[in-house]
Amino acid sequence: MPTDPIVPPEEVVGALAAARRVGAVGHVGPDGDALGSILALTLAARRAGKEAYATFGEPFVLTPIYDELDRSTLVPPGEFPEGLDVVVACDTAARDRLGSVGKVAESATTLIVVDHHGSNDGFGDIRWIRPDAAATAQMIFHLLRALDWEIDAAVGAAIYTGIVTDTGRFQYSSTTPDVHHIAAELLEAGVRQDRLGEKLFEEAPFGYYRVVANVMGRAVLERELRLVWSVMYHADLEEGGIGYEDTDGLVDLVRMAREADVACLLKERESGVIKGSLRSRGVVDVAAVAATFGGGGHHNAAGFTFSGTIDEAIERVRAALR
Ligand code: 5GP
Ligand code: MN
Repeated sequence: MPTDPIVPPEEVVGALAAARRVGAVGHVGPDGDALGSILALTLAARRAGKEAYATFGEPFVLTPIYDELDRSTLVPPGEFPEGLDVVVACDTAARDRLGSVGKVAESATTLIVVDHHGSNDGFGDIRWIRPDAAATAQMIFHLLRALDWEIDAAVGAAIYTGIVTDTGRFQYSSTTPDVHHIAAELLEAGVRQDRLGEKLFEEAPFGYYRVVANVMGRAVLERELRLVWSVMYHADLEEGGIGYEDTDGLVDLVRMAREADVACLLKERESGVIKGSLRSRGVVDVAAVAATFGGGGHHNAAGFTFSGTIDEAIERVRAALR
């Protein structure tokens, strides 16, 4: 299916070109796309002679899977300057997903939203939202090209990380020829996809095995709803001696069941709040399921936060699927 080229609006390009002090913020608990997008934009901005800072909301922790990336522009939320000329919110579908950096992001003269979530609630002063983009990092690539800001190996590695993680390693239907063209250009810029991939996909702390065993061991298949679901308790993390930020890949294991079209992983946070991850094989729109909790995301991958019990959460998912 031919797709429209991903071209940044003149307003976005103009605001960044004119800015002297630039910031980029991602959603809380940033994934490869949010982190890759904010790093790529700010690293390229510094190379272009701007003052530039990246951050994301508390808890300000990153897993070692991102250790290959240049994080020299990344500062803790408390050190992110107020009143920057332009701040770009990347991969963030709603204002509340900025968490503790929402206020400082809004203190910028211009807050720009660059995102690929169809569910984006439209915050910020200028919005560039392309639900057909495979990753926000794909949009950032085109934005940097339009700005004529250099994409070197470090910037390229950040963009590549966003794309390779959000496309399921170039596998999901969002993976267009443009995505592969960009990947080719990034390899030409010196990106080491072998090193990035090893860290991103082929390493975990040993304690993760225990968490996987517990979560997979309690998975439930509900054949009539074609739903597979499981729970990760905070105690699982303590047993494995690993952090919450190490568990982003768990839902990809839970969703393997051939008998299921929809997968749900409910993760208990230390505070008792539940973080839900939903995945679909394509028929069911899980962004709509997440929306019943006030969450959002994409047709095939969405999430929500819920204050209540595991039983209440899964019953609400069942109700949305019936
Ligand atoms: P994950 O399940 O991997 O945390 O997230 C899957 C997708 O849903 C991502 O695109 C993510 O940005 C989005 N998402 C996850 N949690 C929330 C949430 O609480 N609210 C909204 N609006 N989107 C979410
Ligand atoms: Mn994304």
